[in-house]
Amino acid sequence: MDRTVSQIINKALDGGMLTLEEGVELLKWDDLSDEAAAVRLAGRRFSDELLPKAEIHGQVGLNTGLCPADCKFCSFAASNKVFTEPAEEELETVVDYARLLEEAGSNAVYLMATARYDQEQFLAYGRACADALGGKVPLIANVGDFDHDYAVELKKAGFTGIYHAIRLGEGEFTRLPVQQRWDTIHAAQEAGLLIGTCVEPVGPEHSLEEIVEKTIMTREMGARFSGAMRRTPIPTSELAVHGAVAYARMATIVAAVSLITGTNVTGNCTHEPNQLAAFNGANLLWAEVGSNPRDTKDKTEDNRGWTVARCAELLEECGLEVLEGPSAMFA
Ligand code: SF4
Repeated sequence: MDRTVSQIINKALDGGMLTLEEGVELLKWDDLSDEAAAVRLAGRRFSDELLPKAEIHGQVGLNTGLCPADCKFCSFAASNKVFTEPAEEELETVVDYARLLEEAGSNAVYLMATARYDQEQFLAYGRACADALGGKVPLIANVGDFDHDYAVELKKAGFTGIYHAIRLGEGEFTRLPVQQRWDTIHAAQEAGLLIGTCVEPVGPEHSLEEIVEKTIMTREMGARFSGAMRRTPIPTSELAVHGAVAYARMATIVAAVSLITGTNVTGNCTHEPNQLAAFNGANLLWAEVGSNPRDTKDKTEDNRGWTVARCAELLEECGLEVLEGPSAMFA
């Protein structure tokens, strides 16, 4: 066992903030090495300490493409041509979805829309869902970039927070500048909205430096949760040629994210749900209904989307207890 890796792990467990170089050192080992095994075990123990009960958050996708932001990893990207006609869910359907997710045990409910979705309509859907949920679990917005005024409107509509990420390849494989993503995060925080984020979407071509750099950014955001999600290849995407990262590798990455983000970030998500990551430090999984940017079907519950019950079973198989009631991450 390499002494430097032990020292870095101990620094993280003692509450120290890891540097870029230290994060890379944690990830440079083969996944079957003693060093990678030590990172995974430490990531799991650290996550368990920071958040004693795992969570399941449920997301309702409101619409499908064609999104002009054109993120190459997304099935809604205009250039991927998965959904050739835009489509969206009725208000009543979205409210039913939100209510059903909460009744099934989601600790938070998310509404997701593509980048140019009508902002007023999103607020109307938010107000209706907030009413239906009655404050039992937090409502979170997963939408395109916005300014301070819109952040205030989201808060007034009943949203507790937003999911927002500075993705791997942001500005290069998306039409969204990194600074614009930061501006949205800061506008949300100034309006009193909490942030959830993730290191995503990880592909086999990404260097360890890029992965750790984005992980440190999630720490700097002051997010309530971070984590790591692998990219699901969209067959028509130019990125599909790279394939997908194995879950064995993602387990080590998720564990390292827990150690790198440190004591200020209690949640550590992974997506799509898998036992290797949950056993090695992921404490937040996702249930999905409606549209899904990793799916080529418009109703993800008929294809890739997981139910709350299935997520709960996976977490329990990994020795995690699942929280009942509102999310502790967004408390
Ligand atoms: S990830 Fe979001 S912003 Fe990018 S293409 Fe998909 S819906 Fe649009």
